[in-house]
Amino acid sequence: MSERVIPLVDHRHSLPLPPPLAAQGGLLADALGRPLRDLRISVTDRCNFRCSYCMPKEVFDKHHSFLPHAELLSFEEITRLARVFVAQGVQKIRLTGGEPLLRKHIERLVEMLAALRTPEGAPLDLTLTTNGSLLARKARALKDAGLQRITVSLDAMDDAIFRRMNDVDFPVAEVLDGIAAAQAVGLAPIKVNMVVKRGVNDHEVMAMARHFHGTGVTLRFIEYMDVGATNGWRMDEVLPSRELLARLQTEFTLKPLGASTLGETAERWQHADGGGEIGLISSVTQAFCGDCNRARLSTEGKLYLCLFAHAGHDLRGLLRGGAQDEDIAGTLAAIWSGRKDRYSQLRASGASVPSEVRKVEMHYIGG
Ligand code: SAM
Ligand code: SF4
Ligand code: SF4
Repeated sequence: MSERVIPLVDHRHSLPLPPPLAAQGGLLADALGRPLRDLRISVTDRCNFRCSYCMPKEVFDKHHSFLPHAELLSFEEITRLARVFVAQGVQKIRLTGGEPLLRKHIERLVEMLAALRTPEGAPLDLTLTTNGSLLARKARALKDAGLQRITVSLDAMDDAIFRRMNDVDFPVAEVLDGIAAAQAVGLAPIKVNMVVKRGVNDHEVMAMARHFHGTGVTLRFIEYMDVGATNGWRMDEVLPSRELLARLQTEFTLKPLGASTLGETAERWQHADGGGEIGLISSVTQAFCGDCNRARLSTEGKLYLCLFAHAGHDLRGLLRGGAQDEDIAGTLAAIWSGRKDRYSQLRASGASVPSEVRKVEMHYIGG
């Protein structure tokens, strides 16, 4: 049996990576011509909230087994994979989860990722999505580590409604403290995500819009999605963005803005009085698969090509099996170039979507 030699210093990651494997003269593109630009990395499958639309308490209770630590990608493994992705076209990385701020020393990972550069030498657009519960404590360390901007989830201004939605009795005021801390240390822009569920928090839309109007924070309304298999999703609980916009327009004068980047998920609107921006993420009623350039890396190192995918590609096995960076790059290119996923578009068009699906959970694959 051959003996496995573990070098004391691993120089592989500082070696130049092979150039992106692309169609001749072009960028790495999937089977529908979509480039790879955006990587979402889930750093933990755990969360201190139990939002009913994501990790309902009845399912994610004390009997649920979360991943043991040895299964998680280490920061070194994440950074190594991220470097390969960046060499293949990724320009934006979002850390997510579960609740990413629960991962110990997350700022160390931020620092490691902030040091990466695109093949053109540009820094990455590095961001993180959090429920805000630990943000007041962590904002300074994250900023110092090189995080540029942040997205905070908040579903209501009304304390009782919010406590019910997060289902762990967490107060609005502490999330607002987190947002204030992020603003104070200069994380910018700050976005706030509100998942809107008809009959649960849709009557909070105006209060949220009023609160963030003129604060410099961009509020984004997300249609409640049928991700995962545990949230009991029903179409009649979705408030379509068109309807939401009509409600906003009864009080605010809003002007449409163009997309800031290709693959932008939010339709952007601007307060005519200079009070800032609002985003509508119509993931259910207006599928945006056509230019979806997002890949997702799960906590245990599986690559998912769609938020609604039912299976991932194991990259951790490659890493831990001793693959070289160029092998991983080749595998990634092969996987991405075969990508045909466009779940939301198919569902919206009434076409059949694969039925074997037990869709992967949002907290595991990251939002
Ligand atoms: N825990 C962090 C948080 O809540 O911001 C990060 C992970 S969370 C899965 C990422 C985003 O997905 C959050 O903004 C959350 O509101 C959103 N999300 C989760 N389940 C959703 C669903 N069923 N429909 C729409 N958005 C959802
Ligand atoms: Fe946790 Fe975020 Fe899911 Fe809520 S949406 S349960 S905060 S991972
Ligand atoms: Fe992208 Fe899949 Fe969402 Fe379509 S359904 S936008 S392919 S993640």
